Amino acid sequence: MFARVTEKTFYQYLKCPNWIYFDAHALEKNVREPLMEQLIDDGLIEEKQREIISDRQEIAEVTAEDPEEAFRQTLAFMREGRQTIFHGVLIDKHWIGHPDVLEKVEGKSTLRDFYYVAADLKRSRFLRDEFKFQGSFYADLLERIQKVKPQMGYVITPDRTVLKYPLAPFVGEYELTLSEIEKIIAGKKPAHFVTTGCKQSPWFSSCVGESQTCDDISQLNRVWRQEVHLLEQAGVKTIAQLAASSVADLKRRAPLVHPDRLEIMRDQAVAIKEHRHIIRRAMAFPESPVELFFDIESDPLRDFDYLFGLLAVEGKKESYHPFFAASPAQEKDMWEEFVGFIERHTDAPIYHYGWFEKEVVWRFMSRYGISAAAKEALERNLIDVLERLRPAVILPLSFYSLKDIAAYLGFHWRADDASGANSVLWFEEWLKKKDQKRLQKILEYNEDDVRATAVLKQWLAQNAC
Ligand code: SF4
Repeated sequence: MFARVTEKTFYQYLKCPNWIYFDAHALEKNVREPLMEQLIDDGLIEEKQREIISDRQEIAEVTAEDPEEAFRQTLAFMREGRQTIFHGVLIDKHWIGHPDVLEKVEGKSTLRDFYYVAADLKRSRFLRDEFKFQGSFYADLLERIQKVKPQMGYVITPDRTVLKYPLAPFVGEYELTLSEIEKIIAGKKPAHFVTTGCKQSPWFSSCVGESQTCDDISQLNRVWRQEVHLLEQAGVKTIAQLAASSVADLKRRAPLVHPDRLEIMRDQAVAIKEHRHIIRRAMAFPESPVELFFDIESDPLRDFDYLFGLLAVEGKKESYHPFFAASPAQEKDMWEEFVGFIERHTDAPIYHYGWFEKEVVWRFMSRYGISAAAKEALERNLIDVLERLRPAVILPLSFYSLKDIAAYLGFHWRADDASGANSVLWFEEWLKKKDQKRLQKILEYNEDDVRATAVLKQWLAQNAC
């Protein structure tokens, strides 16, 4: 079977090497819609990409849809010496690269006294390893085409910051990964190792059953490959074997694994085997007549945080308060309404799940400002439930997402297809059609998220305090 290597293949490899294997060798294809592809690759929607590069002079855009034709168009622009090439396509044999931007720089090449470097437009403000693999891949392709290899890779963020990195220090890791990818495409089946990245694989719902059937140790939540390797060397190869071992025995057999980790892993194996949770230590939450539960919806494709949802719980009284921005121009108003609400509830703890809410709140504070009272309240009252839960409770789950944990507690989202990724697609649809039902679905999804956080906090208060 003929399979291509693209810049996305590196992302897939980092999430799960089997993703590449299944894509290359499965009889049935698992095709995702393009927006979902962009979403998982930390990409941006075309409209946003155009906005970011709008300050550049002379942009030549590759418009052909057929890859070979798009490559011919790209080559023609490169030979003409266009300054910026948008949506170029680079091909060499079964390698195909789609850099968002190719930029002309001075230097000798087969194109004359200039050559091209590649950049991707990404939502992330930080350089991630998968971006460096992609940049190295573009550089390899460019070398084959213009006979000069760029020395630097580039990522352009939504605020037009150019993050650059030298490619040379990364070359060994890149080549090793590329050679593994080529072997997988040729038929080598990779090892199975469950991580949080699994859920991004379109094969996950079918392949996760495999790891459960073989009772694989990688099913433990947040376990390191090295830890699994050392346990396997010690003869502990399944969850059942780990659950049946004493910590003293494990310490003797796997002395290189930290004793605290051995205890946590053993307890998690017991939790999974016996389908029950284990409380490791008591948790403490502030006493307050009013509690707030907070969740943000964002459209990463547009770098746009459009909904701040708060659930206020006062005894048996509950009220949901959505703060919504229909466009980035309304973001400031949304923030000010949210801040006004916080100013009226400066003593209420604000529970959220994961780091994201804090990150967005600090970003909005610096972008739009905030009153001293609201700033102090947010600094004092934001409580990450996940951060508190991790050291205190062991759950019989491989994944500690809010969806997984709330489902374990019996909570259900109203929409059957509720997920963070789908909510982005619903929002994109709403932007196109302005269909009220879509918006309602998004609001319900956000409300269910904050209600799930409230259910979890209440469960922890009853069971782990
Ligand atoms: S369960 Fe995870 S590691 Fe295993 S094949 Fe599926 S995605 Fe990959």
